[in-house]
Amino acid sequence: MNAPAQSWERREIGSFFHTFTDLPSLREAGPVVFARGEGAYVQDTAGRRYFEANSGLWNMTLGFSEARLAEVARRQYAALPGYHTFFGRNSGPTVELAERMLALAPVPMSRVFFTNSGSEANESVVKLLWLMWAGEGQPRRRKLITRRNAYHGATVMASSLTGKDYVGAFGLPGPEIVTLGCPHAWRCAAPGEDETAFVRRLAAELEATIRAEGPDTIAGMFAEPVMGAGGVIVPPAGYFAAIQPILRGHGIPLVADEVICGFGRTGELWGSLAVGLLPDIVVASKSMSAGYFPMGAVMLSPEIDRRVTAACEAWEEFPHGFTTGGHPVGCAISLEAIRIITEDGILENVRSVGARFQEGLRTLARHPLVGEARGIGLMGALEMVSDKETRAPCPGEWRIGERIARMAGERGMIIRPLGSSVVLAPPFISSAQQIDDLVGVLGAILDEIE
Ligand code: PLP
Repeated sequence: MNAPAQSWERREIGSFFHTFTDLPSLREAGPVVFARGEGAYVQDTAGRRYFEANSGLWNMTLGFSEARLAEVARRQYAALPGYHTFFGRNSGPTVELAERMLALAPVPMSRVFFTNSGSEANESVVKLLWLMWAGEGQPRRRKLITRRNAYHGATVMASSLTGKDYVGAFGLPGPEIVTLGCPHAWRCAAPGEDETAFVRRLAAELEATIRAEGPDTIAGMFAEPVMGAGGVIVPPAGYFAAIQPILRGHGIPLVADEVICGFGRTGELWGSLAVGLLPDIVVASKSMSAGYFPMGAVMLSPEIDRRVTAACEAWEEFPHGFTTGGHPVGCAISLEAIRIITEDGILENVRSVGARFQEGLRTLARHPLVGEARGIGLMGALEMVSDKETRAPCPGEWRIGERIARMAGERGMIIRPLGSSVVLAPPFISSAQQIDDLVGVLGAILDEIE
């Protein structure tokens, strides 16, 4: 007799190495294996349907059944299923995507380099900066400024740039990293300090840090326009306007990590436009291909392009690149995803349902468990507290974020726990009704917990 077939869930537990997963919760509830997707919903192998209120990992912005993306992929696979961009060779969709991205850039940019992911893009920027400064006779300029709670990826330098304690598990950050405070006014402003004074303090901290480290040792600063994985931290008004003149004064390039914000998440095409960030280098990924192909990109300003190109002279090339960076199928998909976002009313939808979503979050802020409801466009977070007055965090044993996320799962909503917070990033195609349902479910869960 044949042994009974094992479920995907059992096979998964027996074979798959889970990362970024709360292991006690995994042991308790087991994994969920998905079989299909439609619109903003995914369906697991048992046939349960979930509204994906995190767009997968911020990336499935056009949902899970966009036939136009599948069709351009099919056509490109038939024409040229893959190629590289080394040795002076290229493919049509790659060139077209580079041109399109330059046309849409938040500030004038002159050249694009493609990668397979956000981490690879940030990693590439570090190498670009190091090569540039060394080529200009300043090899000591290797330090990189980042901020507490930043997330920049999972490769070694991108992890180092990530301002979270867990990078210590790998003996990171490395010696080149200089970490500033997090621009989160609600949590980090001093008692009685208003946003203007908080911004002034952050700018002073940057100036003092650069002077203490030595301006001639700093290669660049990385910043997400709005921090995503750090808990959706929208910087206070005037933050970038205050820090940019300081960076410029010391000749330090500013890198906008637009991996989450880029291509619409904030309601602007770029997060930089939403928060007044004027980047020298832009990094994009995720929404760029709506998650239908692994894609990442680095855009260089005319000045950085000129300086990097000059620095490359010594080596006769920029000795760096990825076999599948600029993959023609990924570029064809990205061109279509960007076209849909910019020309088919998707950005307008993010603006209108985003406003409704933010309004819904603000109503949840009145709940006794919610310390802060924050966000912009279609990204948001609720931070729970044990005391609304003192803003005391929920004790770890409450496992409050995990608990809320599990309860949401039982109600057919996927949301992301993050310590005492939950993070939300619905797809750009979400309807007003879906947003209202999400807010309604969260309200009901909070009432049940209280
Ligand atoms: N930068 C930011 C702001 C991100 O949120 C992420 C991933 O979530 C990355 C970089 C890393 O991108 P990837 O996971 O594609 O390497």
